[in-house]
Amino acid sequence: MTSTRQQAQAAEIAVVAPLDKTLSYAIPEALVAKVLIGSRVRVPLGRRQVVGYVMGWIEPGDMPLKNILEVIDPHPLFHAHHSAFYLRAARYYAHPPGPVVKTALPAGLSDLDSKPTVLHDKLYQATTCEEQPQGVRQREVLSFIRSAKQATLSQLRQEFPTPHAVLQRLEVLGFLQVEEIERCRDPFAEVAVDDHQPVVLNPAQQHAVNQVEEALNGPASFRSFLLHGVTGSGKTEVYLRAIARTLELGRQALVLVPEIALTPQLVARFRSWFQEHDVRLAVLHSGLSDGERYDAWRQVVRGDIAVVIGARSAVFAPLPDLGLIVVDEEHDGSYKQSEGFRYNARDLAQMRGQMDDAVVLMGSATPVLTTYQRALDGHLTHLELPERTAARLLPKVELVDLSQHDGESLLSEPLQTALVETLQAGEQALLLLNRRGYAPFLLCHDCGASMRCPNCDITLTYSQVQSSLRCHYCDFRQPPPDSCDRCSGVRLLPEGMGTERLEEEIRQNFPDAHVARMDRDTTSRKGAHHRLVRQMMAGEIDVLIGTQMIAKGHDFPAVTLVGVLNADTALNLPDFRSAERVFSLLSQVAGRAGRGDRPGRVLIQTYAVDNYALDFVARHDYQGFAALELSQRQALDYPPFGYLVNLVLSGNDETRVCNAAEQISTRLTSGAAGVEILGPAPCLLPRLRNKYRMQILLKAKQREPLRRQIEYLGLLRSHLPAGVVLAVDVDPVDMF
Ligand code: ADP
Ligand code: ZN
Repeated sequence: MTSTRQQAQAAEIAVVAPLDKTLSYAIPEALVAKVLIGSRVRVPLGRRQVVGYVMGWIEPGDMPLKNILEVIDPHPLFHAHHSAFYLRAARYYAHPPGPVVKTALPAGLSDLDSKPTVLHDKLYQATTCEEQPQGVRQREVLSFIRSAKQATLSQLRQEFPTPHAVLQRLEVLGFLQVEEIERCRDPFAEVAVDDHQPVVLNPAQQHAVNQVEEALNGPASFRSFLLHGVTGSGKTEVYLRAIARTLELGRQALVLVPEIALTPQLVARFRSWFQEHDVRLAVLHSGLSDGERYDAWRQVVRGDIAVVIGARSAVFAPLPDLGLIVVDEEHDGSYKQSEGFRYNARDLAQMRGQMDDAVVLMGSATPVLTTYQRALDGHLTHLELPERTAARLLPKVELVDLSQHDGESLLSEPLQTALVETLQAGEQALLLLNRRGYAPFLLCHDCGASMRCPNCDITLTYSQVQSSLRCHYCDFRQPPPDSCDRCSGVRLLPEGMGTERLEEEIRQNFPDAHVARMDRDTTSRKGAHHRLVRQMMAGEIDVLIGTQMIAKGHDFPAVTLVGVLNADTALNLPDFRSAERVFSLLSQVAGRAGRGDRPGRVLIQTYAVDNYALDFVARHDYQGFAALELSQRQALDYPPFGYLVNLVLSGNDETRVCNAAEQISTRLTSGAAGVEILGPAPCLLPRLRNKYRMQILLKAKQREPLRRQIEYLGLLRSHLPAGVVLAVDVDPVDMF
């Protein structure tokens, strides 16, 4: 494939269909000028017509090719080097290229009939005619345009009540010339601006900035950094300086954040800083309509945007000359897409940095162990911010032994006392309970049955607020039954604890406190999360209860107490990463305490006081935890010392799924030198959304033999029995 087209070449096209390869199409004479790399086109596929994306050029062979039928958009959606990146990502994740590009692009561009609307506007400029028109309003409007040099219709509408007739008149009289233009909607109108206080970098920050700037200034070449800074160490300032340098060099920057909706403070900090520096910024967030996303995308591809901030899919944004990629909170699980094209934006950021000669800067207080090991191996430069800014200390962390505590209350005595003290001092508290709803299930106290989802192998979560039983996987809902399905007994009682129940208890015990809850249920409406953040900042909330959402990046200076209700559920998950996840979550939530003038304290309730992960959390000892955990991984050849690919087969018919899994595993085994094949076995969630699920885990010490197996899978995929789907998860994170 080449990126410059010669005469008589054909186009290499990624079609939106589950095909493992791109296809070649002929370019008809009439379209020669319009077909460019990045063009979205309509092509025939079998008896259908589908959307395809032009990825490159190819020498036509002897076989006659079908023609491209239409070029859909007026301009290409990406450049040649983005095409190369998308194709490499498709190969790496063994996912069909068309669907990969579809995932990369804004929604609504993969369907033949739907096209995001482009809003039009008119641009007026004064002609060279220097006379004055007759009418007063004509004179007013014209002098406005003359002094502004040019003005759009939408601007003029804000200045004058109904300018349209006047403008038309001025145009006819030869005072104005007019041009049709596309109007761009403001993509970040909803995100608030924060006052940015200029700070003087401390020595550790300065050292980090110097290192990154040196890499940026150097001859264009890929360099990757891990900015490993404890919570509250001022990583954001380092990002901002690095971005500023990138822009000075005339290149662009991309900032990946876990979830825009959950990081309003960071986005606000960026916005105020960039407004001050007059930088064109696009925030790609899930609140955008398809049309707004399309607008932003077109500005990006044209090179009109200097900085893009977005969640994982922004890693595909077609910035023409990308100089820096920041991955904030690189440990965050949301960088991995868990359905469809199962990519990890953190890893793709590395791939893209390498291909675009950009610097990659990943920041975290608790880097994933894979990243940390790469830093130890020298593949990444390790930059440390070992202390909090402004001489603030990390909070004191205590473990509370739940086995010493009995009684109905969800709060142990020490946590209860600490909460009383915090409220008396007029400070704020965060309470983490990583389970929403009132209780994880309803249990029949006569026969012991629990209410389960009809579509999934899982109990239904009970919500008192919504008066419902709900499945958090398939969203099945039903009102809580009066009696047990199995024995008709009426003693159905909530078991276990969720955030609603904790909220109820705190309200009862502390009737004067302002209590709020932050979880998926209370933040599903637009702006709801943001409001909670504002109320916390304004001191209108005393106790904020929440799921892991409250652990994410917030900077609430008045929080001095963090309580963790139960650390054990997550520790007991059958996954080799469970200790790492617990360490990361608890260190992050602990990091919310004591970020202001007053010191913080953290209480973690657990039955597992001897657990090593909790012990390292209490000592703020990332290095110690990492050393121990990595040595265990090494002994078992788990990542980062080995590589995994998880194959999930699913379908409505259990027998077919099982047979297909057996067949695939037999075929793989026959040609699998250097690859260990575990399974097939039922997935941890063996039935989900009415589909039966089996998994086969491939494990290898080297990547190469795994790659060969995956390529072979591409061939196997077409031999799957009808109704069975194979999902390939390269570098899986969750193995449910
Ligand atoms: P992190 O992302 O590392 O947890 P932040 O970037 O949120 O930390 O910074 C924590 C706080 O410290 C913020 O309020 C920030 O404005 C402030 N800050 C950053 N750098 C400095 C500095 N050099 N001196 C004083 N305060 C700073
Ligand atoms: Zn379900």
